[in-house]
Amino acid sequence: MYSLKEIVQEIGKAAGLSEEEVNKKLEEKQTELSGLVSLEGAAYIVGKELGVNLLEATKKKQLKIKNIVSGMNSVDLVGRVVDVSEKRDFEKGGRKGSVLNMVLGDETGTIRLSLWDKEIDIVNTLGISENDVLGVTNGYVKEDNRGNNELRLGKFGKIEKIEGKDIEVPKGEDIQKGFETVKIKDISDLKEGEHSEVRASLVQLFRRNPFFEVCPECEVRIEKSGDAWTCKDHGNVEPKYQLVISGVIDDGSGNMRVVFFRDLAERVLDKKTEDLKNLASKQADPLSLYEDLDVLGREFIIRGRVKRNQFTERMELVANEVESMDVGKESKGLLGKIEGIKD
Ligand SMILES: [Zn+2]
Repeated sequence: MYSLKEIVQEIGKAAGLSEEEVNKKLEEKQTELSGLVSLEGAAYIVGKELGVNLLEATKKKQLKIKNIVSGMNSVDLVGRVVDVSEKRDFEKGGRKGSVLNMVLGDETGTIRLSLWDKEIDIVNTLGISENDVLGVTNGYVKEDNRGNNELRLGKFGKIEKIEGKDIEVPKGEDIQKGFETVKIKDISDLKEGEHSEVRASLVQLFRRNPFFEVCPECEVRIEKSGDAWTCKDHGNVEPKYQLVISGVIDDGSGNMRVVFFRDLAERVLDKKTEDLKNLASKQADPLSLYEDLDVLGREFIIRGRVKRNQFTERMELVANEVESMDVGKESKGLLGKIEGIKD
């Protein structure tokens, strides 16, 4: 929907003009404005003059990634390529095939786009690489065997590359890459410096002070100087607390130290920082709060970076994403509800 050709078609359709006539109007408008606007810019102006609201037309069609659910058809979306994998050839049931996965992202999330067999050619034809913005039209969504949504082209889907300044898709570094971009690894295979994803159980938590002080304004870690807590940018502040927990994870292949900060720690413990802080302040030994945590043995998918701890010299996984695999509680609850309905 963003290419000039399509804008021209849209104006033509709405105003009853041929493509040629619209193009002529665009050039006239550009001349009128002394060449100060691009043809696209001119198209928006001409469209407006003709009563065609192109912004409406383009916005309506786009789906945001977080709103995608499996089973959807006629999916149109615009996303930035945050990851392109190598083409993989396979043989399944006597059939030879190839697949190439990309991850597209917008400001709401990421989704895998899978290209199969002949569809893969488009990567070379369009010269698609990381950071390009793609428009997908008429795709459909399927759930893969890990429960992730996967966008496919099928017979009717199309991809185009979208160029221009007015692209409303965040830059690559602002897009949180989804879980699906990395393959799950064995802990025994993890290497220093690597971004990896593991599926492992938390087998130990170290009993250390789980709180650290941050500036309430900017959330940056702060230090105490004399009696006051001081932020570099915000001066003396009343500290806010954030969580950090560390422990050991094990996936059967091996074990490793792991560190979770802030909301990741909250997610692992299934508790809010504030509540833990309250709990700790009521006890003689603040560290006894570890005794009330029902977390050991629980399984998580953890994505993070393998670093060498500068004090202990040991490798540890510093988490930057975590997802609990312990869905037992929720599904039991749901099952209860369903059974309740049946009764
Ligand atoms: Zn601050």
